[in-house]
Amino acid sequence: MRRIRCTKILATLGPKTANPEMLAKLFDAGADGFRVNMSHTSPAKLKELHGMIRDLEQQFARPVAILVDLQGPKLRVGTFADGKVTLKSGADFALVKKKIDGTAQSATLPHPEIFAAVEAGHVILLDDGKLRLRVKTSDGETIVSTVEVGGPLSDRKGISFPDTILPMGAMTPKDRNDLEAAINLGVDWIALSFVQRPDDLAEARKLARGRAAIMAKIEKPSAVQYLDEIIEMADGLMVARGDLGVEMPLERVPGLQKQITRACRKAGRPVIVATQMLESMISAPVPTRAEVSDVATAVFEGADGIMLSAESAVGEYPVEAVATMNRIAVEVERDMNYRNILNAQRAEPEATGPDAISAAARQVAETLNLAAIVCYTSSGATGLRAARERPGPPIIALTPKAETSRRLALVWGIHSVLTEDAHDETDMVDRASRIAFQEGFARSGQRIIISAGVPFGTPGATNMLRIAFVGSEGLGSD
Ligand code: PGA
Ligand code: MN
Repeated sequence: MRRIRCTKILATLGPKTANPEMLAKLFDAGADGFRVNMSHTSPAKLKELHGMIRDLEQQFARPVAILVDLQGPKLRVGTFADGKVTLKSGADFALVKKKIDGTAQSATLPHPEIFAAVEAGHVILLDDGKLRLRVKTSDGETIVSTVEVGGPLSDRKGISFPDTILPMGAMTPKDRNDLEAAINLGVDWIALSFVQRPDDLAEARKLARGRAAIMAKIEKPSAVQYLDEIIEMADGLMVARGDLGVEMPLERVPGLQKQITRACRKAGRPVIVATQMLESMISAPVPTRAEVSDVATAVFEGADGIMLSAESAVGEYPVEAVATMNRIAVEVERDMNYRNILNAQRAEPEATGPDAISAAARQVAETLNLAAIVCYTSSGATGLRAARERPGPPIIALTPKAETSRRLALVWGIHSVLTEDAHDETDMVDRASRIAFQEGFARSGQRIIISAGVPFGTPGATNMLRIAFVGSEGLGSD
């Protein structure tokens, strides 16, 4: 089974899709990985989902990425006496430290550390920015604000403080617990929410002990400020446009998306564009023109992945949403302008063996119009460098490690196959040719280019390139 597109699709699971039948349908429609949002999932449920996804892998004999998205310090207001109130524009509204039944005049803010950090004049946003307050006074116990934009507010809605530097790391006790559960199951990616600084990644990395890749969600102004250092510290990034568009003016999001995507491509770090990509498909079988255009933009930019949130978690048309993303990506990648737009942002190789080899592999493959670039990659590092080149011919990553094949499932253009390391040069050629043939990338008579490291089986030693003929039945020869 092979996909005919390079951009990967990540689908969030939820009540509508957390069962084996739907998982199979989503995979079939194009999902390359699944996201589990720990804001709405218990560790027990995560275990169940993990089991279902691993079964799915067996069923389709393809690696599938599991990304566990930690809630992070998402701030919420307390609860209301009647579950819901309406804040009137122009009125005062108080947030208090002590636990009370909320009213239209005051409610609990169950995050005591915020009170000291907030200052008069700061903006407070509620419910994804739908309501806006401005702080008048804060005395350490009560924040009194004026309602600038009112509206309905209900129990535990999100609250954010875009002007305030929050005295907290990116992980809460719940996150640590969820991360431990995820690591023990053997998930592939952990996403950290509300990263503010590069240091926020250090703790997650330590706790993950190398057993999962770490994705930093860029959704805070300070994360944008430290973008390069965060890219350095992370294995991948997510343009988390939901909260990013709350914390920053919405009209800055498209520019930031380009900036983040380009910086990630330059560094060779996978980047996923997320949130509201096909939002209207939560309740409609077809997207809006604007949404199609938005998905297409991310594909044209060369993002590694595009993500569905509520569309696939709670929407009425989850399979249609994945199929729609698939169609858009396939069509854009066929567009006459796709390659030049993609190539315009190609970064020069860095001065390392794997980079030089990957750049050369792309050049040879494109010049000779080869059927595929086959790279032997144990840790996945060489696979990432091959993908960074955004080559025209498909990339097949051969790896002896299941976890590498799964992590690479979210990386642009990579079709990974689990196989032993090559034993010798003949085996290297035979194995690569046979797999390229069997997986539907090369026909007999076509040629492929192989990158590998000698001595075989030594990680981090990519140092050779070889052009090979795919013979009859896929048998390789020079
Ligand atoms: P969330 O993250 O869905 O966990 O909020 C994505 C985003 O903010 O865009
Ligand atoms: Mn978010």
